[in-house]
Amino acid sequence: MRIEIVGAGPAGLYFAALMKRHDPAHEITIHERNPRDATWGFGVVFSDRALEFLRADDEELYQYLTPHLETWPEITIVHDHTRVPVAGNGFSSIGRLELLTLLYAYVERLGVKLRFGVEAESVEQLEPADLIVGANGAFSSIRAQHAEAFGTTVDWRPNRFIWWGTTKPFNSLTLTFRKTPDGVFCAHHYRYRPDRSTFLVEVTEATWMRAGFDRLGPEAAMRRCEQVFAPDLEGHPIISNNSQWRSFPAVWNARWSVGKVVLIGDALRTAHFSIGSGTRLAMEDAVALFKAFRDCGDVPEALARFQATRLPPMKKIWDAANASLRWYEEMDERVAATSPVEFAYSYMTRTGRVDHAEVRRRDPGLAAAYERLHPELAGGQ
Ligand SMILES: Cc1cc2nc3c(=O)[nH]c(=O)nc-3n(C[C@H](O)[C@H](O)[C@H](O)COP(=O)(O)OP(=O)(O)OC[C@H]3O[C@@H](n4cnc5c(N)ncnc54)[C@H](O)[C@@H]3O)c2cc1C
Repeated sequence: MRIEIVGAGPAGLYFAALMKRHDPAHEITIHERNPRDATWGFGVVFSDRALEFLRADDEELYQYLTPHLETWPEITIVHDHTRVPVAGNGFSSIGRLELLTLLYAYVERLGVKLRFGVEAESVEQLEPADLIVGANGAFSSIRAQHAEAFGTTVDWRPNRFIWWGTTKPFNSLTLTFRKTPDGVFCAHHYRYRPDRSTFLVEVTEATWMRAGFDRLGPEAAMRRCEQVFAPDLEGHPIISNNSQWRSFPAVWNARWSVGKVVLIGDALRTAHFSIGSGTRLAMEDAVALFKAFRDCGDVPEALARFQATRLPPMKKIWDAANASLRWYEEMDERVAATSPVEFAYSYMTRTGRVDHAEVRRRDPGLAAAYERLHPELAGGQ
């Protein structure tokens, strides 16, 4: 098959690798607008057991990527100035650029063509092709060209966030919720290599306005956040990389393919960064699309199979991501109304996928502390 892929992010790269590895006769080209060595952002995290989701299907890639990950067995929730460690939430992380660089080398060894500095604006530009894959992220031009046919909806959420880094190497994935006169400032921070951490700051729209971030320039915004998080940064600076305030688009598509054009990764749906599953979902989409092609006779059948098999597991995580983003939209009220233990418990159970029994299993100490405040829960199974 002749396969044209737009976007050399995790979704496009991994789909190309799987298809080419299975059948070296496929002619696969990936078109990427950025130069090879450019990428926005700092590190990305994988929730749960690191890359375990890959292991069953792809031991080779699992072994290739795992040595490059930073991992921690627990997370820390900071309620204003009180730290609550929470066990049973494994996370791992890697620099986004490092992940992409490893995947570029991997697909090129397999014979996939990577074309950098190429802006793909329309499907017509990619012809002739047997399959066109829109793997070009949350603002996909391929999706936008056929938005009505895909049944695209984009729900812009009100919170504002900015993706920065810092030289402070944090020891666990930490979510710090600090009270200020303008409202709660939340930082999602975690080490992704020995001398660097991601430092993503999120605030509600009201806090953002009260803090004057609509008027402050980028340097002044960094200085303000360095002051708010001074006890956490311990003198380390916040680092920018074209960082800008944004709001989160919750993207969904009713139909995942139109003719021979299919969407995967963030182009297909976005999952709020607070559940640490965007990269994982993108790679799982790639696996599902590959398996559909491996098991089906032709393109229409494979694309129908892709949506039918991938929708149920993906929708569960998408729903959890949306519950999580709404929890962050109410963080000011929650920080004000709860003790540190109740707040950490609320964080743990925010998506509806973790109940009290599961909190007990993951972190018996947190469950016991919560039961002391809510004795009606003690004694249950
Ligand atoms: C602030 C923030 C924090 C995040 N944190 C995490 C995290 O901690 N953990 C996690 O797992 N995920 C995280 N994510 C999400 C993660 O980055 C994405 O979910 C993941 O990268 C999706 O992969 P993708 O391949 O679908 O798209 P992308 O990684 O977005 O790749 C798309 C590629 O397409 C290219 N492209 C776009 N348009 C064109 C065009 N017209 N022509 C050619 N090329 C084009 C882009 O340059 C890009 O390289 C975060 C996202 C944001 C915004």
